[in-house]
Amino acid sequence: MASRPSIVFLFDLDLPSVRSGKSLVNSDDDFPSQCIRLLRHVVLNILNYFSEKQVNIQWGYRFYSSSSYQLTNKARFLELTTQTVEEFEEALNVSFEQNNAFVEGATLNQMTGASVLSRTLQDIFSDYDWKTPSDALTPTRKGKKAGKQLDQSLQNLVFIFTEVPSDEAISSFCRFTVQDEQSVKSITDAILPKELAKRFQEFQLSLNFIDLSNDKKTIFHKIAGNLRGAVINALSFISPFSFSQILQASCLAEGYSKEMCSSCQSLSLGSKTVVLVLNEQEIEFQLQCWNPSCIKSSLWY
Ligand SMILES: [Zn+2]
Repeated sequence: MASRPSIVFLFDLDLPSVRSGKSLVNSDDDFPSQCIRLLRHVVLNILNYFSEKQVNIQWGYRFYSSSSYQLTNKARFLELTTQTVEEFEEALNVSFEQNNAFVEGATLNQMTGASVLSRTLQDIFSDYDWKTPSDALTPTRKGKKAGKQLDQSLQNLVFIFTEVPSDEAISSFCRFTVQDEQSVKSITDAILPKELAKRFQEFQLSLNFIDLSNDKKTIFHKIAGNLRGAVINALSFISPFSFSQILQASCLAEGYSKEMCSSCQSLSLGSKTVVLVLNEQEIEFQLQCWNPSCIKSSLWY
């Protein structure tokens, strides 16, 4: 039997766009209710995707502040039930509303964004009972000499909901000086110290970012990719695509272009619908571009 997927969602409560009241999507709703609704939608979408394949998911969720590190209570994995989902929805509402009230007076923190993320990830490791591939050893049917085989389907996943630092903002995120080398490796080292990186390997953990801002993220794309994960734009979950399609596209996307792909160009698309006349009847077709780097891509609407 394959081991159960283990998923932890981590929510950054200190989102600059929430603080500034900037709108994520066109809607009359106020912040943070708009944001809460989007986060809930993404979480349910992801849980739904995994539960369609396997019933015995274990999951957990946590709140943190990307601007200041806070020790959190020890947590454990939950069963995926209607009750735990309802409790999560309640916690999401309460956490964002409460945090919004006090974030105004927050003082400057000494830690860099990278070290807050690093400490938070360490806590995620120590607080949850993750299984390594060898913990999930399963007996083979014939009871061969080895007796057991490594479970290849082990799924340990973390999804961090935050505003992923843009390429331009990374040096201040890590508080690099001019002399410091700004490379994928040096930034990864700032987030994952050696010991933590080793554990990531050991537990084959997949680190994913659900990005709540729109700037270019090529460096974080590479970092997440090296950690079996991806940077996924939260708004892409509003598209009609499934989670696996969105994930696939996000893994391919090397940042976001501002141009149409060659297919869209050759079709010289003015809008996303075309009208064709068939048997003297006008039929309207909705076109969807499935190229993540195309500005017409259906992923980004
Ligand atoms: Zn296109």
